[in-house]
Amino acid sequence: MKVAVFSTCAYDEDFFKQFNTGHELSFFAVPLTDQTVSLTNGFEAVCIFVNDQADAVVLNKLHENGVRLIALRCAGFNNVDLIKSKELGIQVARVPAYSPEAVAEHALALILTLNRKTHKAYNRVREGNFSLERLMGFNLHGRKVAVIGTGNIGKAFCMILKGLGCIISAYDPYPDESLKSLGITYGTLKETLLDADVVSLHCPLNDDTFHLINSETLTLFSKGAMLINTSRGALIDTASVINALKSGQLGYLGMDVYEQEGKLFFRDHSEDVIQDDLITRLISFPNVLITSHQGFFTQEAMEQIATTTFKNIDDFAAG
Ligand code: NAD
Repeated sequence: MKVAVFSTCAYDEDFFKQFNTGHELSFFAVPLTDQTVSLTNGFEAVCIFVNDQADAVVLNKLHENGVRLIALRCAGFNNVDLIKSKELGIQVARVPAYSPEAVAEHALALILTLNRKTHKAYNRVREGNFSLERLMGFNLHGRKVAVIGTGNIGKAFCMILKGLGCIISAYDPYPDESLKSLGITYGTLKETLLDADVVSLHCPLNDDTFHLINSETLTLFSKGAMLINTSRGALIDTASVINALKSGQLGYLGMDVYEQEGKLFFRDHSEDVIQDDLITRLISFPNVLITSHQGFFTQEAMEQIATTTFKNIDDFAAG
């Protein structure tokens, strides 16, 4: 099949070319948007990632151009209008699970870095400053950690927390029985968030979970708690989180994903573009740690992503 691969990550092209797919892959170093969808003319499939946009406008143009398959290289599919794609007969395939440990371990990395302030110590020591000032952390052992969503990633994260000796409370409309038998307590969202020292989000973004963390739910956390989001940016209302950081209700914030991510991902890196963004305000807080949607980015996960994506294209080609 002729596949248009949209990727702004130069790494992808070299990585995917290692696989002998039997398909004709063309790489475009731009996001898929209504501005770039004309590039798909003559392709039967497009291969896209988290920040590409397949809304109704883009889907109509894909359909006109003869595209019959959208092969997502990710698990989340909130960037595709599934109702419209079904209406147009465009199939959508995704990679439902790829190394959940990769994202779970990244969530842990954010927690430990923020808590023990290793990023600050790293910079200080390089400047010859070995002082302990403002570096005091807390033991995770014995702390209440709220895990929101216990699917592939949330479950892997719970297993890590179990080893650390945390008290784990979880919220998921479909509780995992095997986690219950490990002593993990499920409750309502409110019960789960109540007095939590760390809250980590692992649920999908949809109408029910949009701004799940907002001015109301933030008040349930224990004062000075830590919020970790490696799932999707719009799970948190960023403006409310900024207020909670200012008031001290929120003590730490670790984010791998953020609202307006698409806009930031593809910005031209000039200062003026992001000056007024909420993200710029967040970066100014010393107790905020932001990474650039890299939770999935391990050798093992990339191999699984490539293998499943090409299998999805093979299966589609085979009918
Ligand atoms: P999954 O489908 O295996 O698990 C999601 C879980 O969330 C399910 O158990 C589901 O029942 C639960 N859920 C649904 N609605 C909920 C709600 N209202 N409240 C609480 N839980 C709810 O997905 P996964 O593979 O574990 O991935 C989770 C999310 O992580 C994805 O949606 C994606 O947004 C994100 N993700 C991020 C990265 C990254 O690089 N940072 C990589 C992969 C996935």
